[in-house]
Formats: sequence, C-alpha cells, structure tokens
Amino acid sequence: MSADLKIQVLNYEIVNDILLIKWDDGTESFIPLKKLRDECPCANCSGETDVFGTVYKGIPQLKTQKSYTLKRIENVGNYGLRPVWQDKHDAGIFVFKLLKELGE
Ligand SMILES: [Zn+2]
Repeated sequence: MSADLKIQVLNYEIVNDILLIKWDDGTESFIPLKKLRDECPCANCSGETDVFGTVYKGIPQLKTQKSYTLKRIENVGNYGLRPVWQDKHDAGIFVFKLLKELGE
C-alpha cells in the first residue's frame, strides 16, 4: 500500500451526479456516481476470488434510483473514501488509487 499513500485527496464534492475530487498533485477527477456504484469494490459487488481464481459473487442486488444516490461520504483513514448510498449500501471502500483510475 506504500505507493497508494503518495496521493491524497485534498477535497471532494458532489456536483449533480458527479463526484469531483481534487488531488494533492493538482489534478482533478470526475467520477459519475453511477460508475462509482457499479465499480463498488466490496466483496458482494465485485466478488471474492479463491486460490483457484474462481470469483464468487453475492446475489446481485436489484439497483434502484436510490442505489445511485449518495447519502454521504466517509473518510477511511488517509487512504480511501467510503460512499454511503441511499439504499443503505456502504460496504465498498474506494482506495485513492481506485478513485484515481475511475476518474481517468
Ligand atoms: Zn458493494
């Protein structure tokens, strides 16, 4: 995780349905909330991989408008953000590296 710690979020805000992130290297990322939710890295959404490389996913959740609406965002240490969605889903922790990738 040492490489991930180099980049930090200076601040972020939600503008309409876009998450806008300002990074400490002077760059900005624009991530549509729909993309953010669809890329949720939690075990239920993206699956867990066993030693044989088989991915096990939870039962796909039926997504509604609420699934793509943010209630709030929590800071996770100094390495990630955790969105809390209106449908109460909050298991996905987006490390900064992932957020950076999603914004490209
Ligand atoms: Zn998830």
